[in-house]
Amino acid sequence: MMPKAIVFDRDGTATIRTWYGALVVNEPAIACEKCHGTGTIEYDEPIPDYHNGGYLRCTEGECFECGGYGYVPAPEDEEE
Ligand SMILES: [Zn+2]
Repeated sequence: MMPKAIVFDRDGTATIRTWYGALVVNEPAIACEKCHGTGTIEYDEPIPDYHNGGYLRCTEGECFECGGYGYVPAPEDEEE
């Protein structure tokens, strides 16, 4: 995986900065809708229990939508 960082400008806009070796790519980013920018989400983890039928445990984990960064690349601008 490429080294990646979320950079915040002074006006509060977020940018995803990715390093491809010597090449640095900046792309506009928006807060992840899934985790609201926190990078972690709560989900129900199924715990198998072969005697009692199993149960769901509420747990916290890395957001799968943004990979734990909290921000995802902004969608392309759609001209209206
Ligand atoms: Zn997320």
